[in-house]
Amino acid sequence: MAGSGKNDVRSYRNFINGQWVGGTADETFPVYDPSTEEVIARVAVASSASVDRAVNAARTAFETGPWPQTTPQDRGRLLFKLADKIRQNAALLAELEARNTGKPIVEAEYDIADTATCFEYYGGLANKIMGQVLPVPANALSFTMKEPVGVAGQIIPWNYPLMMAAWKLAPALAAGCTCVLKPAEQTPITAMEMAGWFEEIGLPPGVVNIINGMGETTGAALVAHPGVDKIAFTGSAAVGKIIVKSAADTLKRVTLELGGKSPNIFFADADWEASVDGALFGVFINQGEVCSAGSRILVEKKIYSKFVEAMVEKAKRIKLGAPLERDTKMGPLVSKEQYDRVSSYLEIGKKEARVAIGGGRAKQFGKGYYVEPTIFCDVNNNARIAREEIFGPVATVIPFDGEADAIRIANDTPYGLAAAVWTRDIYKAFRVVKAVRAGIVWVNHMQPTYVEAPWGGYKQSGFGRELGPWGLEEYLETKQVFVNLDETPIGWY
Ligand code: ADP
Ligand code: MG
Repeated sequence: MAGSGKNDVRSYRNFINGQWVGGTADETFPVYDPSTEEVIARVAVASSASVDRAVNAARTAFETGPWPQTTPQDRGRLLFKLADKIRQNAALLAELEARNTGKPIVEAEYDIADTATCFEYYGGLANKIMGQVLPVPANALSFTMKEPVGVAGQIIPWNYPLMMAAWKLAPALAAGCTCVLKPAEQTPITAMEMAGWFEEIGLPPGVVNIINGMGETTGAALVAHPGVDKIAFTGSAAVGKIIVKSAADTLKRVTLELGGKSPNIFFADADWEASVDGALFGVFINQGEVCSAGSRILVEKKIYSKFVEAMVEKAKRIKLGAPLERDTKMGPLVSKEQYDRVSSYLEIGKKEARVAIGGGRAKQFGKGYYVEPTIFCDVNNNARIAREEIFGPVATVIPFDGEADAIRIANDTPYGLAAAVWTRDIYKAFRVVKAVRAGIVWVNHMQPTYVEAPWGGYKQSGFGRELGPWGLEEYLETKQVFVNLDETPIGWY
């Protein structure tokens, strides 16, 4: 296909206005397999001139050409076709995703299926965008129209590369927007493979442009560009703050899905096996590289020691391995940068708390950015490892004494993305659900995510919601229309 090479090292250009732009002569950057530390792809950098081209292409496609004339039904059909292509190529995409991110292949397969589901969901919503008729006096008619926000600049992270692309593109296209998407520089491969199908499914040129490069340059140029109407960003809180400041100059609409330090709360009366399992799953799935990771495990004092012991016993059996091996439960971290970041938190943690298990590099691997699943116990909620997002397989376990204490600790964080509570007492469960300041609360589970349900955070975890009809709404403007039915002059002057 146009974007990828046949050799071991794939090469990708940028996809702008329906064409592959930037060749070998352009500056490129390397993309790695974090389990071997080898280069698996080279990708052309989108210079600021290329960003400009991409935004202009999206602008033109939004304003003229076939896209504004495409019916909602046809927009929906395009999304279904894209979902079909993803399902047909699921094995390849999952393999590429696992190789590039380091995540276990079995998890990558779920991600790709969820990616297709997301396109299908918004394909179904495309022709269900409706305004309302408003109750104004009898001699008038007033209604609202829903219209696309315009050109969406979309910047995504490396932890669920293709799925994050779907969370951004699917609602935008359903709404009738055009897009300039920038994948994370660590993980552009699957998005570029997908771009290879756009022409075949009939997506008009310029409707989706995919550009690559570093955040500080290519990403920043996209955020600053006056031709962009809205920025949708998923990533770190630090970058979220930079984006809000930059977007302020042109008053772009901004939605942010940022980090978290989500509490996973275990009461003594909760189902024991399910709880121990849920504590580990909540924080170690995807190597802990999850914005909603249950990285603060709050455990009621009565069961605290036994609970930590049981977690440790189970954590010992987590199978670390190569991403493509089917029994692997944890792969390497995505990059050297992330490995260094997590390692530095492990050193900080050793000074702040007690290591129950793990705490360093997984030494059985000669190569690759492998970190041991790590559990810090007896952690004070004021410790840095309890306050700052680590984005790796690092759990902090914090004891609490009763419901009020659990709620106080759970809310004592600048973040508010997610939370979970485990108990058999439904009164207590729902009191906690109401008291916790977070955008997502799970009861007796942690992490299940459905495209039908809203996703997003309170506090410094961002603003706006993705998924469901809420995610679509973020790509729509509301136009108010007033129609005078009374033919007599206003008669004011
Ligand atoms: P991490 O540091 O873990 O990679 P980031 O929040 O830096 O997380 O990255 C998430 C996404 O944001 C990536 O696509 C990255 O390129 C992009 N990004 C990083 N810095 C900026 C920036 N200053 N402006 C726009 N995008 C950025
Ligand atoms: Mg960064």
